[in-house]
Amino acid sequence: MESKGGYPFSTCLVCFREGILTRHYGRVVCESCKMFYRRCVLKYKRYDCEYINMCYNGPPPLRPCYASCKDCRFNKCRTIGMQMQNETVPLLVAERYKCAAETIRDLIWNDDKRMNALKRQFSFDNPSLEEIVQSKGTCVQLVEQTKTHRLTPADWHFFFAYTTIVFLLHMDFITGMEEKDVITLIQENTVKTSLLFSSFDAMNRKFPSIRTPRGQHVVPESVREMFEKDPRYLYKTCNMLPNKFKELEVTYEEMLLITAIFFCKSETSPLSEETRKLLELHHDKFSSALLNYCKCAHSDTFQTRFEQLLELREILKENLKRIEFIAITTRIKLKPTDYKKLFDDILL
Ligand SMILES: [Zn+2]
Ligand SMILES: [Zn+2]
Ligand SMILES: [Zn+2]
Repeated sequence: MESKGGYPFSTCLVCFREGILTRHYGRVVCESCKMFYRRCVLKYKRYDCEYINMCYNGPPPLRPCYASCKDCRFNKCRTIGMQMQNETVPLLVAERYKCAAETIRDLIWNDDKRMNALKRQFSFDNPSLEEIVQSKGTCVQLVEQTKTHRLTPADWHFFFAYTTIVFLLHMDFITGMEEKDVITLIQENTVKTSLLFSSFDAMNRKFPSIRTPRGQHVVPESVREMFEKDPRYLYKTCNMLPNKFKELEVTYEEMLLITAIFFCKSETSPLSEETRKLLELHHDKFSSALLNYCKCAHSDTFQTRFEQLLELREILKENLKRIEFIAITTRIKLKPTDYKKLFDDILL
C-alpha cells in the first residue's frame, strides 16, 4: 500500500508501530515520533530512564512501560539519525541572529555530552589535573553507572569536576592554547563552572540547594557535623546561586553563555599575551550572543536582563569564597585517602 507521499505502509524506525509514514527530520518515522522529537528539541526537554537505557531497543511490540520512556525514545530518535536544522536553538534566535544561534548550539552540543556522562557513566580513577589536560580527558576509564554503585558525595565531586573539565577542554578556542595556560585556566575555572552547572541543575529539579546528580547533599556528613553550631553558613553556601537563578528564571542558553563569558574573563592568573587576546576575542563573541539572545527573549527589557545576568558574577565570587573556606575545613577533617588528587588541584 502506498501513501500520498509515496512511502509504504510500514514500521516506524523509532517506536516500531505500523502506519503510514513520511520523512521527518531526515528519517522515515510516524507522526507521533516526529512531534515528540520536535518538542524535545525545541524545548530542550530532558528525561531520565527508569530502567537500563534500552527501552526502545525492541524487539517489537514495545511493552507499555518501555514505550513510555521518553529518555530512551529521544535517544532512539537521535541514534537513527533524526536531525533538525538549527537543532536545540529556539527559532527566534536562529532566524534573526545566525551567529548567536551557532554559538549557542555549539555550547549546547558540548554540554549534552557532559550531561549524558553524568547520567550514565562514572569513574573510579584518580588522575591529576595535568593528566586530564594532557590527555584531553581520555586518561580516565569510564564505567556504566548501575544502581549497585554506591557513590558518595566525594565520588560525585570528582566526577562532576571531571566532566566540567572535559566540557571546558572541548570549547573550540582552547585547542590552540599553550598547555601551561590551559592548566592555569582550568585550575581557576573548574569549581566556578561546576557551581554554575549545579546551581542551574538544582533550579531545574526544584531542589532548594545544589545536590549530587542522584539528589544527595553535596557536603559529606562528616563535614556537616563540623558546622552544627552554625548550619546556616553551609545552607546559604549551597543555595545562594540556585536562589538567584530561580529569581531571574535563568534559561539554559543564558546559563551556558554566562558560563562561557565568565570563563573568558579569567583575571587572577598569569597568562601569555596570545592567550589573553584569544580570551578577549571570545569574551566579545559570547557577550554579543547573549545580548542578541536577550533582544529576542526579552525585547522590551533586554538591556536590564543583560546586566542582571552579568551581575551574577558578583554572587558567584562570594559563593566561591565560601566554598574555599568549607574546602579548607574539609581538608583538615578528611584523611588523605578520602579525597582525590583533583580536589587539591582545583581547590587549594
Ligand atoms: Zn513512531
Ligand atoms: Zn528508558
Ligand atoms: Zn530504558
